[in-house]
Amino acid sequence: MVRTLDGTELSRVMRAEMAQDVAALQAAGVTPGLSVVLVGNNPASQAYVASKTRACEALGMRGQTLNLPEDVSKDELFAVIDRLNQDPTVHGILVQLPLPAHLPYKAVLEHIRPEKDVDGFHPLNAGLAFVGDPRAFVPCTPAGIMEMLRRENVPTRGKHVVIVGRSLIVSKPLASLLMAPGPDATVTLTHRHTPDLATYTRQADILIVAVGKQNLITADMVKPGVVVIDVGQNRVPDTSSDRGYRMVGDVDYDAVRQVASAITPVPGGVGPMTITMLLANTIQAARQTHAKQA
Ligand code: NAD
Repeated sequence: MVRTLDGTELSRVMRAEMAQDVAALQAAGVTPGLSVVLVGNNPASQAYVASKTRACEALGMRGQTLNLPEDVSKDELFAVIDRLNQDPTVHGILVQLPLPAHLPYKAVLEHIRPEKDVDGFHPLNAGLAFVGDPRAFVPCTPAGIMEMLRRENVPTRGKHVVIVGRSLIVSKPLASLLMAPGPDATVTLTHRHTPDLATYTRQADILIVAVGKQNLITADMVKPGVVVIDVGQNRVPDTSSDRGYRMVGDVDYDAVRQVASAITPVPGGVGPMTITMLLANTIQAARQTHAKQA
């Protein structure tokens, strides 16, 4: 029987645990606060940001969104980040990506104080995560996948994990987390220039796909019993939905499900875990700030 790795249910359990952490911090006089900076009116970004701040409020945390116009200048955006960097009630700062092309996103991410960089995209945090330093904020999607594998008792030691995609946001940090002492996996990272992708995916005990292409992975590309983690989020037109679209992953879910031993759905798999780890990182930031002040 194939297992569905249910990120919504796991998140519910984790968020109930985290609500206690928030209550303990509040009792010590600290309410963890996340500020999300949203530039422009991209509807997908607006939806992501709304779900992040809603999730904060549901846990008793402070969730704030700062909407800036599409044509905001780099200096104006930096001034907003400077203000949040200085604000003691703001423990986590997140600038929603993608940014409009005129804004240098790397410089913007580097402008966030590393202690408030709950997305884990600042080079200092990326480096700390790479060397396995516990002070690092690990990017939320890889952290959520690691937590899902751990809580679902999916063994990684000595297993061959094949990751499709090489992004800095998901795949590269995930590769380094999986190969570290503890998880102890053997990792193969593939990308758009990998010839004959199926040669690699068929070897996977655990297959993680983070590309953004519907049906990239078909049933003939996986071996029986594989554990499949589908990170992809693709909008496909759907007239039966009020929104006119539905979300699908990168994996041909119905067909691959027949072959796999466990698989994440889209939606309801990696997505909710990502937001849950953002909450966890914000609580960690609040705790670290509080410990320094105490
Ligand atoms: P990205 O766009 O930065 O990179 C995509 C990667 O896919 C690249 O490394 C590229 O080399 C690789 N690629 C492209 N075509 C390929 C092919 N034919 N074969 C093999 N590799 C190929 O990716 P990202 O930011 O990691 O996002 C990937 C997907 O994951 C997107 O759909 C995104 O929306 C989704 N995502 C979901 C979450 C979540 O919480 N569920 C979080 C982050 C990203």
